[in-house]
Amino acid sequence: MRISAKPVRKCHACRLNLGDHCWLYASPRSQWRRRSCRGFDNEDAYASYAAWLDQPNVKTRRELRKEFFRSRPAPKTFVPPRARRGKA
Ligand code: SF4
Repeated sequence: MRISAKPVRKCHACRLNLGDHCWLYASPRSQWRRRSCRGFDNEDAYASYAAWLDQPNVKTRRELRKEFFRSRPAPKTFVPPRARRGKA
């Protein structure tokens, strides 16, 4: 069986379906092998997902760097005019 993280058509109405992957299972296709998924309409799983969503967001180093870059304009640096050579 092909292992894919992509939810299948039967996952359409599930709240754990995040479009390109399932929040709960690594392989949604294998969950539907017995005609039903244990995560579908499972209130415990939905509650866990809601609790996970409520957790404070931890930003990655890349996100922090991007945010810092956009928040602070580059400081103006003084560039002295070029000294003229040979003229007094
Ligand atoms: S929990 Fe089950 S029904 Fe819901 S998205 Fe995952 S595999 Fe699909």
